[in-house]
Order: sequence, then C-alpha cells, then structure tokens
Amino acid sequence: MLTPAAAAGGEWDVVAVMGVGRDAWPDLRLRDTITRTGLLVDAVTGRLPVDPSARAAAADPVAARSQVRADERRMLLAALTRARRRLLVTAVADSDNAPSSFLVEIARAAHVPVEDADGGVLLAPDTGDLTLRGLVGELRRAAVAGMLTGAAPDERRRARAAARLLAELGGPGGGVAGALPKDWAGAAEPTSSAPLVGGNEPVRISPSDVEAITACPLRWFLTRHGGNAGFSEAQSLGTLIHALAEQAQREGLRGQALRACFEEHLPELSYPDTWLGGLAADHARELVDRLDSYLSGVPGRVDVERRLDVRLDPPAAPSGGPGADGAAAPESIPVRLSGRIDRLEYLDAPPAGGQEPPDDAPLSDGCGRRVRLIDLKTGAGKPTKEEAARNPQLAVYRLALESRGYVVEGGALVLLGAAPLRDGLTVLAPKGAALDPSPDPGTGEDWARDLVASAAADARGARLTARTGPHCVRCAVKDSCPAVAEGRRTAP
Ligand code: SF4
Repeated sequence: MLTPAAAAGGEWDVVAVMGVGRDAWPDLRLRDTITRTGLLVDAVTGRLPVDPSARAAAADPVAARSQVRADERRMLLAALTRARRRLLVTAVADSDNAPSSFLVEIARAAHVPVEDADGGVLLAPDTGDLTLRGLVGELRRAAVAGMLTGAAPDERRRARAAARLLAELGGPGGGVAGALPKDWAGAAEPTSSAPLVGGNEPVRISPSDVEAITACPLRWFLTRHGGNAGFSEAQSLGTLIHALAEQAQREGLRGQALRACFEEHLPELSYPDTWLGGLAADHARELVDRLDSYLSGVPGRVDVERRLDVRLDPPAAPSGGPGADGAAAPESIPVRLSGRIDRLEYLDAPPAGGQEPPDDAPLSDGCGRRVRLIDLKTGAGKPTKEEAARNPQLAVYRLALESRGYVVEGGALVLLGAAPLRDGLTVLAPKGAALDPSPDPGTGEDWARDLVASAAADARGARLTARTGPHCVRCAVKDSCPAVAEGRRTAP
C-alpha cells in the first residue's frame, strides 16, 4: 500500500486506486510546505509567471485553488498510470459519501458505462453539496456569476434560472434561509450610517491606537472588536518582558537577579520541551540580557507604566492626509488620550519642595520638568530611521506629556528584539532618542497633531477605510476586508 507520491516511478501489473471520493480527490484545500517547494517546482517547470502582475494574479485564492485542482489531477494521473495490465478505481456512494467528478472522467475515458441497461445511474458525477444549504450556495454562486460583466450567454441563462429558483425557495411558500438577497452577507443596506462617536463627544483612543489607525482604520476597528486571531506566542513574550521591565525598575533588579526573576516566570510562556521550545526560550533570554543592558545604562528616576489620561483638541484632519479618505472630518474632533507610558526617564530633579508622585498615580503636572520617553519593543521588526523619527506612538505620548507641562527632550523605541550594536548596546530608534520635532522647524508642519486629528477622524466613523499596504500580508481580518481578494468572497 503506497501513497500516490510514493508510487511515482513504479509500475505494477495490477493497481488499485482507492477512495476517489468527493472532498478526498481533488482535495482543494490551499496548502504549501514550509520551504515553499511548490514555488520551486513551478519555477523549474516554467509555471511561475515572470511578470510581477501575473504573479500577483496567481496569488488570488480562486487561481490558487484551480492550481491545486490541476495538481490533484496530475497526481491522480500519475497514480493511474502505474498499472501495466489492470486498473481498479474505487469510491463510496451512499448517503454520506459521493464519488469524485474525477471518477466519472476516468470511467468515460476507459469506456466503462456509467448507466445500467435500464438507464439507471451506475456512477454519479460529483454534484456538490446536496444539503439544502449547499444547494442555496450553488444557486447563489450561479446567480451572481451570470450577472458579472463578460458573463457568457450560457452563464446568464443559468443565472436567470438560479434567480427564479432562489426566489421560489425564499418566497412565502419556501422560507429557505439565505435564499433571498436581503439575507446575503454584505448585500443589505447598513443598519446605521451614524458616526461611531457622535456630537462633541471626544474620541477615546490610546497612542498605540493612533499607530494602528494610521496603518489601517478597518483593521484597527475589527481587531479591537473581536476580530483578533487570539494571543500569539510573540504577544505573550512581549507581555512578560514588559512586566519584568516594570518589576526590575521598581525593585532595582539587575544582572543575575533580573535573569533569575525571568527564569521563575519562564514557565508562563508554556514553551514545549523540544528543540524549537529551547530556541524560543534562548531567544527570550537574549531579550532579558538586552533589557538588563539598557536598564543598567539609565540611572536616576524613572517612572514605569505611568498612566495618562488627557484631552487634546487637535485641528481638523488635514486635507489629503490619511484621515481625509472616506469621510473627511469637517471640524476639529476632541480626543481623549489614555494609555500607559513604558518608561518616563527624568532628566531633572523634582522642583524644590516638590514630591515625587506615587508609582501608580496618574500623570501629574510636569511643572517644566525635562523627561525622555521610552517605549519597549520586543518584536523582531526594525523601523527605518525615518519611521522611528516620526513614530506615531512616541509622537502622541509627547503631545500628551507636553499638554501636562513636561518638556520632552527625546523619545525612542528600545528594540529588545534586535541584535545589539557592535559596542554591545541595545538598539535605540531613532538613535539618540532624536524624535523629529513637531511642528517641523523647516516647514512648520505640525505632523504629530495632524496624526492625532487624522486618527480621530478615522476612528469616529461612520466609514472605516481599508488602507492597503505591506501590513496586509499579516492581517488577521483580511477575510472581512473588501480591499483584498480574500475578503471579496465575503464582503462586497
Ligand atoms: S487586509 Fe489590509 S486593507 Fe484590509 S483590513 Fe487588513 S490591513 Fe486593512
């Protein structure tokens, strides 16, 4: 007994190819190996388009599925041609199983009759999902396909017949769910076109929201309301490292003490006891070493996880800026900014007679104290110099601090996930915490306030823009996004 792949190259007098059933052969699930060997095979056999636009079209799920179907057909052909004298092909046909459409093709090619002497069907082609739900799905697909521009006359005829049948199924005598267009996902009118935040109410967002909204308002909204793919391993590591950084600062843990504290918490990450689990734990230890290196280089008072909650009144969203697509904000939208600053490093002593606020108090008035803003990053991504110099999260924290009377002398991301610099120091981005000033001294552009204004306009709704870009590749909600092929199957 062999798999088709294992049988390739062999020959036998009698070969039986078993289980050529629907859903088994062709198995149309999209798949690829970790090393993308499928791409290599396509390149060698000349099936990989050279033109980038043709390559993008090949990434379309419909095209990919038809590619899988072609591959399945080739694999079946390879299995069938292993026989020298006799070939037996089997499938099950009962209430739960149906033969594959390939079986009918094989029978016809082999001139095996598919009807008995009385005209009864000996072999039925794959007729799709025979449940009522499956039938409605088939009819809907046919009805829509015939209405597309460029549909063939035959498809248009099928569409009209499908529409008539759907109307009958969904009508008063039928009542079949999903038959009428009013029940189709994305076909109904919006239930409301009111903004998500009305009147003069401030839009409540955090500085990290501003960054997420700037990248893609639709993804921000959907992931914030349950569309997230769950807590990833990388997020668990990030949470643990942030908690460790807080504890280390409060309790003065450095060097061996910090590493011992991490080892105590390591089981919380649930890394498996395997080679890969060991690699993941070693990677986490590297992050702890970099954290230690950074903390050891910053003496003096530092607030960790300092809460802030301030109101800002940015100008109206700039025309042509990110917030201007979809529904542009005609007026200034008040914003309530809340969040926690990873580290607020003080460059001045407290004013004479002044007292340091307790650790868990919200941000107090700055009274002109000079501070440096630090955000810890545990991911492997490394922003470019320009991206770091205009990091939305840091820029928004700076605005919030300035509104409370602080003088922000610099802001930076501490890249714990990046390999240290040649002198062993942890990477600061931008270098020297040189966050670009806003307003820009050369152009006068108040880019930080514009960012907040655009984010507020985007977050307020009622329209949410799907802003495509390289970030779409790892988007957890692309199945609900009309701007990409995956989502066009579910959203109009
Ligand atoms: S796929 Fe891209 S455009 Fe669509 S929601 Fe996700 S990030 Fe936004």
